[in-house]
Amino acid sequence: MRYAETGFNLEIDLTRGNIEKVQTDPRDTELYLGGLGTNAKILWDRVPPEVEPFSPENLLIFSAGLLCGTPATGCNRTIVSTISPQTELMAFSMMGGFWAPELKYAGYDKVILRGKSPDLVYLWIKDDKVEIRDAAHLQGKGATETSELIRKELNEPKAQVASIGLAGENRVYFASIEQGRSSASRGGIGAVMGDKGVKAIAVRGTGDLNVADPAEFFELCNEVLEYIKFREDNPIPGVMPILAGLGSPQEMQVHDEKWHTENFMWGNSRHRRKGFWNEEVAKQWTDTMTTARTRLISCYNCPMKCGATISMPGLPTYMMKCFSKLTYTMAAMADLDFGLRIAQRATEYGVDGFSAPQVMAFAFELYENGILTDNDLPGMPADNNERFFWLLDRIVRREGIGDVLANGTYWAAKEIGNGADEYAHNNIKKHEQLPLKLSMLNPIYFLMYATGEKINITQIEGQFPQAPFPTREEREAFVKDWFQVPDEKFKQYFLDWELRGENSIPYYPTVEMSCDIVDWQEKMHYIDDALGMCAGLSSFPLKPPYHIHNYPKFISAGAGIDMDEASLTKAAKRYRTLVRAVNIRRGMRRKDDNPPKNHWKKRFPELEKELLDTYYKFKGWNNDGIPTKESLHDLDLDYVSEDFIERGILTDSEDAPAKETAEASAE
Ligand code: SF4
Repeated sequence: MRYAETGFNLEIDLTRGNIEKVQTDPRDTELYLGGLGTNAKILWDRVPPEVEPFSPENLLIFSAGLLCGTPATGCNRTIVSTISPQTELMAFSMMGGFWAPELKYAGYDKVILRGKSPDLVYLWIKDDKVEIRDAAHLQGKGATETSELIRKELNEPKAQVASIGLAGENRVYFASIEQGRSSASRGGIGAVMGDKGVKAIAVRGTGDLNVADPAEFFELCNEVLEYIKFREDNPIPGVMPILAGLGSPQEMQVHDEKWHTENFMWGNSRHRRKGFWNEEVAKQWTDTMTTARTRLISCYNCPMKCGATISMPGLPTYMMKCFSKLTYTMAAMADLDFGLRIAQRATEYGVDGFSAPQVMAFAFELYENGILTDNDLPGMPADNNERFFWLLDRIVRREGIGDVLANGTYWAAKEIGNGADEYAHNNIKKHEQLPLKLSMLNPIYFLMYATGEKINITQIEGQFPQAPFPTREEREAFVKDWFQVPDEKFKQYFLDWELRGENSIPYYPTVEMSCDIVDWQEKMHYIDDALGMCAGLSSFPLKPPYHIHNYPKFISAGAGIDMDEASLTKAAKRYRTLVRAVNIRRGMRRKDDNPPKNHWKKRFPELEKELLDTYYKFKGWNNDGIPTKESLHDLDLDYVSEDFIERGILTDSEDAPAKETAEASAE
């Protein structure tokens, strides 16, 4: 008997129209858990580095996390993994909502797509009945519109539908997959779905899941619910409003946007607007939001209501959550009314709400600086806000300059030339980042930005406060009930962290402490992504209900896998290393672990070198960021080191770097 998981994947060959239900190996669950962990294993095994993102050989994997569909509160993530057209590395983007539990109830843990359909299709999964259906009539339709049309045509109002819009169909590198109450946006996974000719996957499941120890599992769930209630009644003092509670940052409920609007950058991540947030703006934005927000909504089995349905006058309703509330507004230097209007169109087109606004702001900055001219933007409206709508339309249709910009700022800058590179200034691993530019280097964030392979800093950070609290008393109060720490030493790290003086950034937390903190933060995110847990209840907020002490119990009682903190830590390290191995095999090296050069004004090259050197060692990677033979052996990943040796990425002796590595280091 399999617990928590179904033990079956759906394998769909789109070229041949073949559908198979394949039993999975329970040993893989023990080693890699599920979700991201087993996705990484499949990509390692079946997608060699020669495979291009838009090759039929590339896989697109939709995976429910290991505990999705169980009663664990907030466990509803679908982890979508593939090779990204933008970074050319492994993309793994998460979406909440209802899709993953529905897939489990239909009897599957994953849907694995390979090949390419000659015509646009959608997939319909209803328990054991799985069909590839014609989607010609859905071509060009919006993502939300598509979901509604499919539900109607199937006469299945409860079907959960993940779909792409025009951006995915046209292989825009930052195309998302939308799913009514959530979206998987980073890494251009929607473009791969479009390339495979799949407009949507609709799923309806009516089966059950088993958990190994129901009584224990329910007790654990009740403890989590009680803690959520406790935190709701006791917000954390001394931190910004979005970090005081749980869930995804509560942008739909919080009206005070002083922190984001004055600390994040506007335009093409260039302009800080100190003093922007005044009474007049606060009133205007609050009015806009309260008029537009028709309802607060949650994902499957979660009380947090992080999302909202937004209805702008004259426009169809759509769903929004988190910082996408502000990304378009700030990129266009506009107001919230504009931001909520363009986000509706962008959601239907299916584009990443972080990258799309930056790509447009980048283009207009090039125009202001004469690198793009009127010839490149024929017919562009004079009005600033209308320009953004106009350019968005061209990008998703790949018309004119839109065809170049549709590849994101990194690739567009290369194609445009003439110094455009300097304007694509906010990328790591070829991917747009949050519009943040800061003053003093922060060693923790340096390591997270540099080595993160999730691309998105919000899905790497969490657990440890982002900044020290001003007084010792406040810090003492904070650590008092901080039981989520994996080790008491983290409390001391925080207690001694000062705003100024010897124990302040960039030299405090020390290099060793920074390695510990980043490793803890990253580990929690990777565990969430295997279990299907929402980061908003675990790895992202301070003092969350799920943590390293109760997770092993959830896995044991839920999936029936004997797990303690040490074995969970090892499993997470195993598939985190496997993700790195997939990327190393695709050419990623130390040179790519590099935050934007203007992310901090004050940089410390020697300290940064020491941070990377030490962190690599800490993680079991060599000086070029490649997992060593010894560390791979410790993680039962000998098959990875064998492959690395065969490809000349590692040498058998390990001491001498492989030829390729030696050359890269000398560059
Ligand atoms: S915390 Fe928010 S984003 Fe996370 S599952 Fe709950 S409602 Fe969804």
